[in-house]
Amino acid sequence: MNMERQTRVLVTGAGGFIGHHLTRYLKERGYWVRGVDIKEPEFEPTEADEFELLDLSRSENCLKATKDIDEVYGLAANMGGIGFIESNKAVIVRDNTLINLQTIEASRINRVKRYLYTSSACIYPGYLQNETDIAPLKEEDAYPAAAEDGYGWEKLYMERVCRHYTEDFGLDTRVVRFHNIFGPLGTYDGGREKSPAAICRKVALADDADEIEVWGDGEQTRSYCYISDCVEGIYRLMRSDYREPLNLGQDRMLSINELVDIVAHIAGKKIEKRYDLTKPQGVRGRNSDNTRLRQVLGWEPKVSLEEGLGTTYSWIAAMLEDRKPALQEAKA
Ligand code: NAD
Repeated sequence: MNMERQTRVLVTGAGGFIGHHLTRYLKERGYWVRGVDIKEPEFEPTEADEFELLDLSRSENCLKATKDIDEVYGLAANMGGIGFIESNKAVIVRDNTLINLQTIEASRINRVKRYLYTSSACIYPGYLQNETDIAPLKEEDAYPAAAEDGYGWEKLYMERVCRHYTEDFGLDTRVVRFHNIFGPLGTYDGGREKSPAAICRKVALADDADEIEVWGDGEQTRSYCYISDCVEGIYRLMRSDYREPLNLGQDRMLSINELVDIVAHIAGKKIEKRYDLTKPQGVRGRNSDNTRLRQVLGWEPKVSLEEGLGTTYSWIAAMLEDRKPALQEAKA
């Protein structure tokens, strides 16, 4: 390793999906990692050098977490899939504002050199996402702003806070806008899971020729990015000198119906769809424009959706195997 002193990084949200994978990635690259979360990683032990259970909505904990740290990867958030974020707006805005504002302020006080903030495609205006066949979203499409109510507005506000901390305090910041990240070791049940994990779970629990429930009419469109590409993109952005918000996602757009068909094919099952139009489905269409990502990083996500879903489906199916009889009984 070619570093004078081991760089000391903080990963907040290191007990969560992306934070856990990122911790492993950074350890593989020789960093000293402190992980912080309000919970331990759910599915396997952390690889962080130090893991602290701290509630980052409290400023004294943010000061403790950022002490003697060179770089912060800010991934802690109260979040979940569309069902969760549409019905918990106040709690999400309160918690995430407290976590992020106090973490960046503690980073300034403790003289952290670089701070990465994890934003979301949810900052893009609803008026650009009313059709299934929408144009991919470019970074500059964020304004005039009309972000996802609650979760998306806090993300957009925090993007601006990062800019102000750079301009006024000289804290070097990076802002990444994720587009639907998925993969193994992510939440797949309980109400906070996102569409790929929810669909993998439903297909894994279904028998051949069964029906599964789809939220909305299934024609809503999205793009999905596999977790290994996500952590590599985060790292490349952190190492770059680019300070503006940057999309990180795949630019292959498909409908939820198509997503179900791919998972059913992977599982080798014939699956019928039952549409529940009362369930939230988010924007009608969304895709990432990766032009700037390619320009800035000279790189873009590589793992195909089929490959990523194959790995994810196998992991979720294996996790459910033991619980299958009880879950099927509860469903009946
Ligand atoms: P996650 O829910 O798996 O991880 C977030 C972690 O933050 C959780 O482990 C949670 O316990 C922790 N946390 C919550 N409140 C905390 C607190 N008060 N103090 C300390 N830790 C706290 O989510 P994720 O998918 O890993 O997302 C990581 C980041 O990426 C978040 O900022 C999220 O908004 C953003 N993001 C994710 C996606 C995606 O598709 N997964 C998309 C857009 C943006």
